[in-house]
Amino acid sequence: MANDKDRGAVTEARKFQAVPGVRDIPPPESALWNRVEQIARDVLATYGFEDIRLPIFEQTELFARSVGTSTDIVGKEMYSFPDRDETSISLRPEATASVVRAYIEHGMHTRPGDVKLYYMGPMFRRERPQKGRYRQFYQIGAEVLGQSDHPGIDADVIEMVLVFIERCGLPAGRPGSPGHTLYINSIGCKECRPKYVELLRAALVNAKDKLGPDSQRRIETNPLRVLDSKLEAEQAVIEDLPRIADHLCEACREHFKMLQAMLSMRKIAYEVNWRLVRGLDYYMRTTFEITAPGLGAQNAVCGGGRYDGLVELLGGPPTKGIGFALGTDRLILALQEAGKGGAAKALDVYVAWMGPNAYPVAVRVARTLRDAGFSVELPHEEMKFKKALGLAARLEARYAVILGDNEVAAGTVTVKRMADGKQETIPENALTQHLTRVSG
Ligand code: AMP
Repeated sequence: MANDKDRGAVTEARKFQAVPGVRDIPPPESALWNRVEQIARDVLATYGFEDIRLPIFEQTELFARSVGTSTDIVGKEMYSFPDRDETSISLRPEATASVVRAYIEHGMHTRPGDVKLYYMGPMFRRERPQKGRYRQFYQIGAEVLGQSDHPGIDADVIEMVLVFIERCGLPAGRPGSPGHTLYINSIGCKECRPKYVELLRAALVNAKDKLGPDSQRRIETNPLRVLDSKLEAEQAVIEDLPRIADHLCEACREHFKMLQAMLSMRKIAYEVNWRLVRGLDYYMRTTFEITAPGLGAQNAVCGGGRYDGLVELLGGPPTKGIGFALGTDRLILALQEAGKGGAAKALDVYVAWMGPNAYPVAVRVARTLRDAGFSVELPHEEMKFKKALGLAARLEARYAVILGDNEVAAGTVTVKRMADGKQETIPENALTQHLTRVSG
C-alpha cells in the first residue's frame, strides 16, 4: 500500500482541459442541439426512417474495407488501438459502415420494403482542428437499403435533408447567393469508373510537375481526390482534366439524368459539380453535398451518395444503398451565424418563498407545477424577496410565484409576470390553471 507521502503526490490539485479538437457543448447551446436533433427525428419519421443505435467502436477492418485504406480517413485519421485480445479496434470515423454491418448481422434484408435507418451521435477523426472541424464531431445520418436503385429514392433522401435544414431555420439559397446550396454529381459505377480513373490518372501524370505533393501522391493512391483540391495553384490544371460526365456508361448517364428530373419534379434547386467526388471509397453514381454560408473553409454541412456494392463487399446479399451524413456541429454553427441559434428559455417559474411556514407550501407548489409540465426552480435556502426576485430575473424565469406569510395564511399565491412586473394574487389551487391560461 502506498504510504501517505506517496499518496500526497497524486492527490495534489490539478486542472484539466478537454483534449485538443474535442469540446463540451454546455447549456444554453445544448438546447439548440436538442432542438435540431428533435426536428431531425420528426422529419425523418415522416419519411419512414427508424432510429438505429450503433456502437461507438468497431473492428478496424470494417472501416478499412468499406471507407477504404487509401482514404485519409482510414489512412491517417482513425483512432485505432489494439484491444486486449490484440484485435484492432477503431473509434468510428463515420457510421455507414456500422449501419451496413448491422443490416447484414440482423438479416434485415428479409424485412418488407426498403430498410430506412437513421442514427445520430459522435464520430472521431484525427484532423487538424479549426472552426467547424473537430476530432470528435457529430453526425445525423440516414441510409436506405433495399433492392431498388431508382433515382426517386435519391431525390427523396435529398428532399428530406433539405426539409430538415429548412425547418431548422436555414433558408435555401441559389448557387452564389445566401442560404444553403445543393451540389450533385455522378461518379459512375464499377463498369465506367475504373476506365475514367485511368484516363484521369494518365492526365495527372502528364501534369505532375504542376501539382503539389498531396496531389502527386494521390495520382497513385486515389486520383479522384485530386479533384477535391482547394489549392489555388492546381485549379487551372484541374479545369483541363477529363470530366466524368463525358465517360459515364449508358446506365449511369440515364440514372443521373433521371435524378435531375426527379429533383426538378420536387422543385429542388441544384448545381451539378463535376468535381464532387467525396472522400470515401464506397460511393458510386449519385454523390451530393450541401453547403451553408458563414462557415468559412469548412462549409460542407452534409454529404451523401449511393453505395450499391457495399453490402456485398461486407459479406451481405446484393443490395442497393444510398445515404447521407450531416455534420451537426456545422449545421449549428450555420444557424448561429444566420442568427437562428436562439433556443427558447426553459425556465417557466421561480418559486420565491419567505417565512417559516412557506417552504412546505413552496415544495408542494413546485411539485404540482412540475407535474403539469412547467419547469420550476425551487430555492432551498431562505432569502429576502428582493434577492429571490433578482435571481428569478437573472435566471430569465417567465413567472415568479411569491409565497410569504400572508399568502400562506390565506391559502393564496402571488404570481408575478417577470416581463412587466404585473402581479396577481390567486388561490393556490387555481395556480396551475392560471399559468396554463396566461402562458399558453
Ligand atoms: P463525411 O462523413 O466525410 O462525408 O462528412 C459528412 C459531413 O460531416 C460533412 O459534410 C461535415 O459537415 C461533417 N464533418 C466531417 N468531418 C468533420 C469534422 N472533422 N468536424 C466537423 N464536422 C465534420
